[in-house]
Amino acid sequence: MRAEVLAVGTELLLGQIVDTNSAHIGEELARAGIDCHFQTKVGDNLERIVLALRTALTRAEAVIVCGGLGPTQDDITREAIAAVMNVPLERDEAVLEEIRRLFDSRGRQMAANNARQADVPVGASVIAQRLGTAPGLICPVGQKVIYAVPGVPYEMKEMLERAILPDLRRRAGETAVIASRTLRTWGLSESHLAELLDPRIKALEEAGEGVPTIAFLASGIEGIKVRLTVKAPDEATAERALSLEEAAVRHLLGEAVFGLDEETMEFAVGDLLRRQGLKLAVAESLTGGLLASRIVSIPGSSEWFLGGLVSYATEVKQGLLSVPPGPVVSAEAAEAMAAGVAHLLGADVGLATTGVAGPAEQDGQPPGTVFVGLLLPGARASALQLKLPGDRERIRQMSVISALNGLRLELAARARQQL
Ligand code: ATP
Ligand code: MG
Repeated sequence: MRAEVLAVGTELLLGQIVDTNSAHIGEELARAGIDCHFQTKVGDNLERIVLALRTALTRAEAVIVCGGLGPTQDDITREAIAAVMNVPLERDEAVLEEIRRLFDSRGRQMAANNARQADVPVGASVIAQRLGTAPGLICPVGQKVIYAVPGVPYEMKEMLERAILPDLRRRAGETAVIASRTLRTWGLSESHLAELLDPRIKALEEAGEGVPTIAFLASGIEGIKVRLTVKAPDEATAERALSLEEAAVRHLLGEAVFGLDEETMEFAVGDLLRRQGLKLAVAESLTGGLLASRIVSIPGSSEWFLGGLVSYATEVKQGLLSVPPGPVVSAEAAEAMAAGVAHLLGADVGLATTGVAGPAEQDGQPPGTVFVGLLLPGARASALQLKLPGDRERIRQMSVISALNGLRLELAARARQQL
């Protein structure tokens, strides 16, 4: 079973809105084990929507169209589908009644235009609207089918789940699932990752069916994701294959892997701190609160995070954190900041950032020169020096994740020593 996605809207082509609908539908199709080989975007133009639908139907058994079901003149998805089905549109009185009722229940007058949303191609069935005014449509075209849903993401998602995926599964009559798992890494380049994983990738290619594939996804300041995907007859078989492969990949990549799926770097750090019963405090210069902000984005971080100080001015570093006289972009300053803030806030662990975000150099150091200070219980404060690429914003963001990663590695080493 193959299904395609067609996103309708001139705004999508102009880049005024990002086509997140296709991404979501693609993800859900994969989960349902339905192949999706093409996703198309087309503007609000009848001829071109018709062409896109006809083309998609030559390649796939089903097409999911999103957008253009609204009440205005440029919402012409219904007309395009009717043209492809070669049938007229007919106003559905029950749908019209429902639209009227929706307007009444919100105390609003229905505009004459909204009646268009009750137009249904002859032979199509309606997916009742629950969240918006436009119903969805299930439109048979010979043995194939076109589904239409509104462009508004939450309306689309609701109809996809309630009506379209069940209908597609029924049509497919098969129950294969595609499952994936993402290992998140930091600290290795894509080519280095590829080199380390090369033996696995080759082995999997030779094994053929039923084993996962490995793909890389560079995700900027979120690191590089290594995604394992497998197609299997059922969920349990898929999960077993993924677990085996995850273990193999972790073995090859070691400490570069910091999390799984939605687990962020700050989540990984929090998890280690919590397990070791440690409290963290941060002192930030060039990151100016970004580090603390990422940390508190984790629900429950109050269990292990005490707080932070944005020590931007030299006087604040020296006055509140006992940073010694001398350059503030230095290992000594970073170490003193980490120890100083841990002492000031009564934390077990101190983490600090100081450096040059640019564009100008500072203390004779070029932009991207960053020092991360770390204090762990029972040890002297230490510092990492980084050379980060990019503009001011990127350097600040990279400093945050690099600092968190530095702390993660230290905490992981400490956990191993305690075992
Ligand atoms: P409505 O009934 O609300 O007019 P519609 O079916 O006509 O819905 P559009 O007018 O195409 O849908 O889009 C409505 C809104 O939904 C857009 O302004 C946009 O914010 C969002 N939207 C539309 N298409 C997409 C898409 N492919 N990805 C993400 N958001 C989208
Ligand atoms: Mg619209």
